[in-house]
Amino acid sequence: MNGKRTGVISAKSPLPKQVDLGFAVVHVKYVGDKKLREEGECEDDEATPEGLWVDIDDTIYIRKSMSLARKRYIILHELVHAMIDLRDQFAREGKDIPK
Ligand SMILES: [Zn+2]
Repeated sequence: MNGKRTGVISAKSPLPKQVDLGFAVVHVKYVGDKKLREEGECEDDEATPEGLWVDIDDTIYIRKSMSLARKRYIILHELVHAMIDLRDQFAREGKDIPK
């Protein structure tokens, strides 16, 4: 195969501290359960979320006690929420939505 390989993730790939979506930058923070519950405004009977997209500070919070593979999976899940929200936000503000 010729050319540069892109999108390759190996066991040694670091977890991102931020992700550039091209039209917005999303921050990723790895936090404990207390912070997740605060950010998620969890009720006492609610389970602690594994990840959380918080649009007011453009940040994804990830439960730091999880395995590397689980963190990656949850980051990807939350990035989809972030992309949908940010596209909606662009539309509301009448900005061009990136293709
Ligand atoms: Zn979700």
